[in-house]
Amino acid sequence: MSITPLQLQGIGMTSQRTRDRLVARLKDKGIKNQDVLEVMANTPRHIFVDEALSHKAYEDTALPIGFNQTISQPYTVAKMTEIILEAGPVDNVLEIGTGCGYQTLVLSQLVKRVYSVERIAPLQKKARERMQLLRVNNVRFQHSDGNWGWPEEGPFDAILSCAAPESIPTDLLDQLNLGGRLLMPVGPDGKQMLHLLIKEEDGVTRKIIEPVNFVPMLSGTQK
Ligand code: SAH
Repeated sequence: MSITPLQLQGIGMTSQRTRDRLVARLKDKGIKNQDVLEVMANTPRHIFVDEALSHKAYEDTALPIGFNQTISQPYTVAKMTEIILEAGPVDNVLEIGTGCGYQTLVLSQLVKRVYSVERIAPLQKKARERMQLLRVNNVRFQHSDGNWGWPEEGPFDAILSCAAPESIPTDLLDQLNLGGRLLMPVGPDGKQMLHLLIKEEDGVTRKIIEPVNFVPMLSGTQK
């Protein structure tokens, strides 16, 4: 299997014009970081969804990716990436919930190294294959339960979760560098808020960013 240049480039509803329209919408919604906007314009979201849905790939909505999971809404991906980069260059980031790998690909273009964990094996496998086809070589994947982070590869400058726990798993804070940022949706369906925790010398500061809508963070792994 391979991705042809034409497939990557996209036509019609997946063309550059359609992508630019999405980026204009992201700007309207308040995304300001130029690097993030540029990456959003250049990242082919249509190759991460089923072909039957590719005409919707550049709408600002979440879409199904199988296994009861969704590809995150572009605005949310852009917003989370912008927050991660707010304090300056990021060396390494841990992503919890690879899903189809779209957020992973966005991150890989803006930080040095990405570590991404996913609990559903087939999703993880497919994301890894996509990254190989795209010749992305600064991402490492692991099939595991992100509640435990990835201690062997930490500490991280940032940890970003695409799944919402009821409360923040405390192990994750131990895997942050000083000044590191943990960005995570927290709370039950319909009542989730995006939380930003920053590890300081004298403790952890917490900011609540805005309401969000993510799939729940589950425990254990699935074959
Ligand atoms: N950014 C991804 C979002 C996928 S949805 C994308 O755009 O595709 C969130 C993902 O988190 C799902 O794939 C789900 O299986 C995964 N997930 C949920 N709980 C998890 C856990 N404890 N550890 C790792 N991944 C988890």
